[in-house]
Amino acid sequence: MKRLRPPLIHATDTVHACVAGITIAERAQALMDALPTIQISEAEYLELGPAGQLYRITPSNSVTPSIDSALMGVIYKSHFARQGSPSRPLYDQIKMAPEFGICPLCGQRNVATVDHYLPQTRFPTLNLTPLNLVPACSDCNKKKLASVPMSAESQTFHPYFDELSNERWLIAEIHPSSPPSVSFGIRPAEAWDDVMTARMRHHFLVMDLEELYIAQAASEMADISYALEETGATTGLEGIRQHLDSQFRSRHARDPNSWKTALYEGLRDSDWFCAEGYRLIRNRAQTTTR
Ligand SMILES: [Zn+2]
Repeated sequence: MKRLRPPLIHATDTVHACVAGITIAERAQALMDALPTIQISEAEYLELGPAGQLYRITPSNSVTPSIDSALMGVIYKSHFARQGSPSRPLYDQIKMAPEFGICPLCGQRNVATVDHYLPQTRFPTLNLTPLNLVPACSDCNKKKLASVPMSAESQTFHPYFDELSNERWLIAEIHPSSPPSVSFGIRPAEAWDDVMTARMRHHFLVMDLEELYIAQAASEMADISYALEETGATTGLEGIRQHLDSQFRSRHARDPNSWKTALYEGLRDSDWFCAEGYRLIRNRAQTTTR
C-alpha cells in the first residue's frame, strides 16, 4: 500500500476535455449541462475524503435527468478513456502517477487500469472526478469490484487521502518448518485510530494481500538461500543476522512497510531462521543431471 499525491486536475478539466472529444452534439451538451452537479459532488468528495468519510456519500442512479449511470459509463469508457481522445492524456496522467508504475493498492503488481474508488455504477456524478480515480493493477481492481462501503471501517485504503505513517505496521512472522513459512499481518501504528486500523485490516483482507505477499516471500527466500548458506558457512549465525539486517535497512529506507521490509525484519529477528532455518529453504533449480 502506497500513498499517492492527489491529481492536480479537477472534474472541470476532465469534463471539458471529454466534451471536446464527443461528436454527438446532444451528448456533449448534456455533459456540459451536468458540470455544476459534478462540481458539487467533487466538492463534497474533497470535504469528506481527507476525513475518511466517503462512505457517507449517497449513491444515485443518474447525474441529471438526461445522463443516467449507464450513459455516464459510456462517456467514461468511450470518450474519457478512449485512445486518441482529447481527454486521454488526463486519463494517462492519473494512471501513470505511481513510481515505477506499481499499483498503490497492493504495492506489488503493475498498474493496468484506473479504478473508481466509489464505483461508477452507483456514483455516476463522481465518474469523471480525478480524486475518485485511482491507478490500480487488474487484480486489485477486480477484487475491489463495485462494492460500496457502508461504514467508516469497511472503506479500503484511499491512496490520495490516507496517511499510512512511517512506523512499521506490516509485520511478517517466520514459522519454523521445512521449508520455512511466513505469515503477514497488520500491527496498528501509534498514529492510527481504531477506524484506520480496521480499514487497513479490511483492505488487506479484501485485496488478498497476505496470499500475494506469502508467494512473493517464498520466491524471495529461494532467491537468497544460496548466499545465506555461503554466509552461514563462513560467519555463522551472527553473519546471517548482519546480512539480513543490512537487507532490512535497505528496504526500510525506501518503504518502511513493503512486504520485503517486513520479510527481512522477520527473518532477521527469528533466532530459529538465523541458526538453522535458512538451510531449509527449498531453492535451486534442481539440476537434472541424471
Ligand atoms: Zn494491486
